[in-house]
Amino acid sequence: MDRRTFLKTSFAGTVLATTVPATWLAGCTTEVSTSQTPPLRLSFQENTAPGETLTERLDFMEAHGVVGLEPSGRGLGDRLNELQQALRGRNIQISAICAGFSGFILAEDPTVRATFDRTMKEIIAAAGELGSTGVIMVPAFNQQTPVMPHNADTRAYLVEQLTLLGEYALQHGTTVILEPLNRSEAFYLRQVADAASICRDTACDGVRCMGDFWHMTAEESSDYGALYSGGPYLRHIHIASRGKRRMPGEDGERDNYVEGFRALKQMNYPYYVSFECGSTGDRAQTVPAALTLLRTQWDQA
Ligand code: MG
Repeated sequence: MDRRTFLKTSFAGTVLATTVPATWLAGCTTEVSTSQTPPLRLSFQENTAPGETLTERLDFMEAHGVVGLEPSGRGLGDRLNELQQALRGRNIQISAICAGFSGFILAEDPTVRATFDRTMKEIIAAAGELGSTGVIMVPAFNQQTPVMPHNADTRAYLVEQLTLLGEYALQHGTTVILEPLNRSEAFYLRQVADAASICRDTACDGVRCMGDFWHMTAEESSDYGALYSGGPYLRHIHIASRGKRRMPGEDGERDNYVEGFRALKQMNYPYYVSFECGSTGDRAQTVPAALTLLRTQWDQA
């Protein structure tokens, strides 16, 4: 099976099983039912689960029904065999690849942009080999300077460059996923709707976006509205506690995700909700507690 076929069958199979609106699948005209409730597909980054080794962490994840792994993109091309071997025979797939490139796309300096382009493409190619839904990227962190001005011309440049990158990602059976962050990290792109409108303007199926509950806590007026605004462009979700970015539940009553989950369920969102957080407690306890909390809230949504 080549990568394009894999992408089509794995995504479309997921979609059909979880009843996404057919209009959200480019090139798919099959009418599908919307009567079923989609499953909550949980994913961890590599350091989320307790355990000393990747094998121990994957064993823990499997035992607790976590079906996605989100590795960093740093050095991903050298880890293909390791990750493929580690996941062989398991009910865990690569959910997304978290950044890991050098340089940035909105750098004023063309050599920094070239570094971004080269390293990002290496990660995209590796992500495709691993069957990842996409590679997460941020257009510019606040500390990355000199940066292009935050104006309409820069947005047009970003759309143009993302279109090229998205086409490259599609050739490798994956996507690039724009991540909005909170203003203290990246003022350039802060809200899911803004990221989704950039995706729309590329008109490229290889350019997608995501929502991160941690950043949304600071930037969005509505979890429901934010995630729903991602529409067909929403490809990934990050989750953490809403006060200190720990395991969901470690910030008590604040850790309510029900409205956001309601949007995902109504959208028949078929992709992953992935932990991106630390923990102040013993992970052997805090991680299973977080899983229980999220599954309970998913059922409530
Ligand atoms: Mg994030």
